[in-house]
Amino acid sequence: MPVGTGQKIVIVGSGLAGGLLACALARLGFQVELYERRPDPRTAGYSGGRSINLALSDRGLDALRSIGLDQRVMQQDALPMKGRMMHAYTGDLTYQPYSADAAHAINSVSRAGLNLTLINEAATYSNVRLVFESTCIDADPLTGTATLRSPDGTLTTAQGDLLVAADGAFSAVRGIMQRTDRYNYQQSYLDYGYKELHIPPAAQLPAGTAHPDRFGGFALDPAALHIWPRRKAMMIALPNRDKSFTCTLFWPFQGDHSFEALDNPDKVRAHFQRHYPDAFPLIPSLADDFKTNPTGSLVTIRCWPWVMGRAVLLGDAAHAIVPFYGQGMNAAFEDCKALAECLDRARGQIAPALDEFQTLRKPHADAIADLALANFVEMRDKVGTRLFLYKKKLEHALHRRFPTRFTPLYDMVSFSLIPYNDARRRAAQQWQGFSILAFTILFLLLLSLQIILTATGIIPSPAAPPLGLLLLCLYAVGVSWLWQRFTP
Ligand code: FAD
Repeated sequence: MPVGTGQKIVIVGSGLAGGLLACALARLGFQVELYERRPDPRTAGYSGGRSINLALSDRGLDALRSIGLDQRVMQQDALPMKGRMMHAYTGDLTYQPYSADAAHAINSVSRAGLNLTLINEAATYSNVRLVFESTCIDADPLTGTATLRSPDGTLTTAQGDLLVAADGAFSAVRGIMQRTDRYNYQQSYLDYGYKELHIPPAAQLPAGTAHPDRFGGFALDPAALHIWPRRKAMMIALPNRDKSFTCTLFWPFQGDHSFEALDNPDKVRAHFQRHYPDAFPLIPSLADDFKTNPTGSLVTIRCWPWVMGRAVLLGDAAHAIVPFYGQGMNAAFEDCKALAECLDRARGQIAPALDEFQTLRKPHADAIADLALANFVEMRDKVGTRLFLYKKKLEHALHRRFPTRFTPLYDMVSFSLIPYNDARRRAAQQWQGFSILAFTILFLLLLSLQIILTATGIIPSPAAPPLGLLLLCLYAVGVSWLWQRFTP
């Protein structure tokens, strides 16, 4: 008998995580009720206000595989991007593969398409009930009950053996938990926001702007994620299946190069001509997009516990992160798979499964939150620099030479299932080992040089011992600095 037989699970929020979780729990035999405040996208079209496309990588694909959807998503919704394409002020392009392994790619998927695929799939299970236009306005975590309001104001309650909050960064269920004693909650906003712009297919651009066939009808190469790093600001662009691109500006709200500074269409156009000269002609709707599209904020949310009575938080409701590692959805999907596995292992017993789930996932959610914040600095300030490109080349060379001993952090995060915190620790240890080895070789070379120079009389003999001692001291200081610098 399936482990979930006879038990009901209420899920609030049918965004990306809610749909996937409904399928995973239905497969375990639970009765699933999924409540979503938006209209049914199967009939109403998608009405989400968030980013139009996102990067799906191995963790997300693995969770989709667990409900049999990975291949369909890859065929219907995904465009693989094997590297970053950096756009300099001059329009010069620098391509940099994401991995030493040419098969590795992150995938640009449509948020709306993926959401629809998940909802369509959830609807195929006879033990899943989907309820749209139903907003959770109250909850009792201890009894697993949600109070829901429909557009005409009717209130209903839904009670389950388990209540799952998959209702995103501003979760209503978490809001209730936050009001209880000793609840830990922290939110921090970046001084940066985001805004989306649209690059149409090449054929829809004025003649001479982009070659209609050069990139199969796209205005830019669709096999790359495009980045315009501008030190304190940046723009990225991801391809869509209809041959358009969605650009996202990540800019400060105020100050130089900020949203606030560009308060009329002329300023917008002049700014883009100056800072993004190669992209400017590709965005004919620039001034309109800039004025009309909302400026979103970027928040990191950490909270604890994720479990209270019969309720559990998951996805952005438990750990909203900034989007710079492209991992928020991937982590949310990983949560769904992990929760289903915990319930399976506990043979459907809710309390031990929830306990295992939150203990297992929290350190990794914290790790990817930190990595995502750090990656913003990398994407914005460093990707365009020579030093960054050399570092990436070195990482790839080391990985090719020692594939089992050195794996770049980006590969571990995006192309493996190594838990985030383990990946972070392992990356630090790898750099610790590598830099101490390189430093030791340098020290031995300098020592040999000193011995040769002393033997040939170029360095007078009395100077040799103090010089040797100095080298030794420098070596000790250097090693201890490297040790601390890379200690996870
Ligand atoms: P959501 O997708 O936010 O879904 C929550 C759902 O709950 C929504 O459908 C909402 O309508 C519903 N809801 C909310 N409140 C209620 C209520 N009271 N009652 C009923 N329903 C409710 N992640 C990646 O992996 N790769 C990327 O490239 C990437 N890019 C991003 C770019 C940007 C600009 C942003 C902002 C985020 C990006 N993310 C990315 C992160 C990703 O969008 C989120 O991590 C992901 O959507 C989380 O899924 P979720 O289901 O937990 O929450």
